[in-house]
Amino acid sequence: MEIENKDTELEQEKTKERPDAEHTDEERDEVCFMCHRPRSKAGKMIHLTNEIHICQDCMQKTLDMMNKGNVDYSRLDMSKMPNISMVNLADLQNMFPKRQKAKKKEPEVKAEPEKTMDIRSIPAPHKIKESLDEYVVGQEKAKKVISVAVYNHYKRVAAGSDGDGIEIEKSNMLMIGPTGSGKTYLVRTLARLLDVPLAIADATSLTEAGYIGDDIESVLSKLLAAADNDVEKAEKGIVFIDEIDKIAKKRNTNQRDVSGESVQQGLLKLLEGAEVEVPVGANSKNAMVPLETVNTKNILFICGGAFPDLENIIKERLNKQSSIGFRADLKDKYDNEKNLLRQVTVEDIRNFGMIPEFIGRLPVIYTLDALSEEMMVRILKEPKNAILKQYQKLLALDEVKLEFTDDALTAIARKAMEKDTGARALRAIIEDFMLDIMYEIPKDDNIGQVTITGAYIEHKGGPLITMRGVPAMEMRG
Ligand code: ADP
Repeated sequence: MEIENKDTELEQEKTKERPDAEHTDEERDEVCFMCHRPRSKAGKMIHLTNEIHICQDCMQKTLDMMNKGNVDYSRLDMSKMPNISMVNLADLQNMFPKRQKAKKKEPEVKAEPEKTMDIRSIPAPHKIKESLDEYVVGQEKAKKVISVAVYNHYKRVAAGSDGDGIEIEKSNMLMIGPTGSGKTYLVRTLARLLDVPLAIADATSLTEAGYIGDDIESVLSKLLAAADNDVEKAEKGIVFIDEIDKIAKKRNTNQRDVSGESVQQGLLKLLEGAEVEVPVGANSKNAMVPLETVNTKNILFICGGAFPDLENIIKERLNKQSSIGFRADLKDKYDNEKNLLRQVTVEDIRNFGMIPEFIGRLPVIYTLDALSEEMMVRILKEPKNAILKQYQKLLALDEVKLEFTDDALTAIARKAMEKDTGARALRAIIEDFMLDIMYEIPKDDNIGQVTITGAYIEHKGGPLITMRGVPAMEMRG
């Protein structure tokens, strides 16, 4: 009879649903004893005992199964059935004291984002430059200008406008330098040092809204993505727009200039600082894309470009200036002048095809020097993550020492200079001759050191191989 009592008790418990108010332990979610789904997924629970709950689905399934068999369990004396033992629910409760309660997801308490930057946390210009020095070779002037400009920019962000009517103006930058001279690398290093989100966009892909190509706002979509869609973080980030010279005004054209002057016009608003509707996760606005409003007031824009032909414009101007009056110079005086770009003026950039309003919004203008052979050699070995150091580390994992003779480095630099693509050529050249080394070396465990010589780079000999405990010899391939 005890069983019958239990069953009736069960029935009563089954149907009795406790109101939500009785759920004292609010942090925990009830979990179905059978399917283990939490209350948030499975819906209302039927409480069998304090600690055991079953969701309505599972309860229904159980009842269905019982009905199918047409068994009247209440009349069965279970204790007499073989292999069937009755479970005391109270015992279960002790067996699984807390298992049925999964921790409810804590409502994410978002750390209150810093509304303002702390002025003291912004590294001083000389500190920024010191850090840049570790990675970027040469380009002293550019590193100095960028350090000061960035420092001022973030000081301006930190200060905000404190009601005295003095608002520090934005110091967006225009960086002019030949391809492969480290423009992108400089900005990338800077953003990493400052720990701010960075978006790198290509001006060539931008077009006026409505035309094939990326909308101008897409540069901000990239920034938003770099900031994990955190608008506040993105609003203090850096946007680097590369190939800015490609949006110069097209000359002698009667057609609408949708990828040139119009893009410059479109960028004005962003550079200046405005509330912009930005498509999230897409490059153009359309009905299917969610939009987010981003204020560009505190976003630092750095535009970069190689500006081919700008040197000729500068030369022309200088020639014109010097050919007037008594001290007239020869016409070819500036033909062999190195780093002529350093003498660039706003006027030259305007003559190149950038509209005055656009240049006006990039008050900090500086140039990067073309890389010399000596700088190339330094780029190979000096930066913290120099290419040579990377290969040395790779081979060190095989316990092989990799050395380069000085004439090997100059030979690599000379080859790179011929390619005219700046430091970008270095990696391609090294990859080429390192392939054989990386292929051959792991074959022989006895190799202790490989020395790359100038002769090897110039295909006049092999690298020097030193076996462990044996004098060096030349590898023949
Ligand atoms: P670009 O001026 O065309 O944007 P990049 O910044 O992409 O050129 O440079 C290409 C690569 O060359 C960089 O990834 C970097 O490794 C190397 N590099 C270029 N200039 C320097 C430099 N001054 N110091 C160190 N590495 C450099």
